[in-house]
Amino acid sequence: MSKINFDDTSIAFAGKTDDELSHAHNLFRLMQFEPLVNIGSKFTEIAFNVGLPISYPIKLTIFDQFCGGTDIQECLKPIKKLSEYGVHTILDYGAEAKENEKDFDKIASFLIENLKLAEEDPDINIISSKITGLMRFHLLEKISNNEALNEKEQAEWERGLARVKSVSQQAYDCEIQIYYDAEESWIQDAIDQIVIDHSKEFNKEKPIIFNTVQLYRHDRLAFLKSSLKNAKKDGYILAVKIVRGAYMEKENKRADEMDYPTPIQADKAATDKAYNEALLFCIDNIDHLAFCNATHNENSCKLLAETVQAKSFPNDHPHIFSSQLYGMSDNLSFNMAKADFNVAKYMPYGPVKEVIPYLIRRARENTAVNGQLGRELGLIKIEMQRRNLL
Ligand SMILES: Cc1cc2nc3c(=O)[nH]c(=O)nc-3n(C[C@H](O)[C@H](O)[C@H](O)COP(=O)(O)OP(=O)(O)OC[C@H]3O[C@@H](n4cnc5c(N)ncnc54)[C@H](O)[C@@H]3O)c2cc1C
Repeated sequence: MSKINFDDTSIAFAGKTDDELSHAHNLFRLMQFEPLVNIGSKFTEIAFNVGLPISYPIKLTIFDQFCGGTDIQECLKPIKKLSEYGVHTILDYGAEAKENEKDFDKIASFLIENLKLAEEDPDINIISSKITGLMRFHLLEKISNNEALNEKEQAEWERGLARVKSVSQQAYDCEIQIYYDAEESWIQDAIDQIVIDHSKEFNKEKPIIFNTVQLYRHDRLAFLKSSLKNAKKDGYILAVKIVRGAYMEKENKRADEMDYPTPIQADKAATDKAYNEALLFCIDNIDHLAFCNATHNENSCKLLAETVQAKSFPNDHPHIFSSQLYGMSDNLSFNMAKADFNVAKYMPYGPVKEVIPYLIRRARENTAVNGQLGRELGLIKIEMQRRNLL
């Protein structure tokens, strides 16, 4: 079987017109200036708080690069376009953590609506959600700390559990996978417990409920292994999304301020090693688990492709998925999809104001001091040169 060429920009950007490519080029070039991103991020937050009309310019620039639309209807066009290249969509209502139950109920109803839509639309095969979009952070923190809840909190906790359960139940009824994101380590124990309970109940025949394992935490490879042991004992299919982890600075800062050892690996090499070991562990145990390789790291994608091929598994093995964020690393997604791997883009959507924190994270990740920019801008430039646009 031939090797995948991740540098083939003609495949990576096949879906982009010359204008769209130039637009992406300008955007990624602007984002390489860290001070500009910092000032822009602050300005955006303040502007929204004082009600300045900045939704429209944001919508035309960074929003369209990283989000599918302000609502589901707007997402249908980019979803169709991805599907023309064999790339599926993971719909992600982009709201960040909420604080009141009205918002939690609203998000749960969006998720249920999305699951029903996915049941009808073969291009959407996965839905993703944050547990903090469905119940209060503080409650998850208390439960993770084994702190007792007062009577009012206990009632709220039970309503929260019922809310998450209704979403998982819908996923099961529609036979659509749901990925629950991993979040900060000090609420993750409670998240794990909820997701594992639902996996036990809904993953008996098929992988439906996916937990997320962050390999930047030094305890998570062991957690992955013990999760599989428990799944085998309890007779269900373990389903996991593996990621490196998104909250490193926050984790290190909190550990430092509160004077406890950081849960984060000693360095990037240790995270990469743990990630790749987790990936190999998943493939070695593929009869008992399903997993998603959720990364923009080319070496990890290569490792996945080479191992699947070395084991003579079909590239579109029903337990093996890959995913990148919408608007990023199209060279990985499109080239893997072309080679028949199961690939889906994580597509956030929602009103501009709701997805601002997500957009700011993407902008920060793409500054020159972070690794991603070189990759994105470099590939866009190669494709522009290939099309004689530069
Ligand atoms: C589809 C998808 C879903 C995701 N879902 C989640 C989620 O549910 N929860 C979540 O937390 N994140 C999630 N992420 C984000 C992910 O965890 C990473 O932050 C992001 O993808 C960058 O890592 P990478 O593997 O793509 O590549 P790389 O660029 O190779 O790795 C960067 C990552 O390495 C780690 N790292 C960097 N420097 C160090 C260091 N000095 N020491 C230790 N580790 C270091 C950090 O995790 C950093 O984000 C998701 C990403 C994708 C693509």
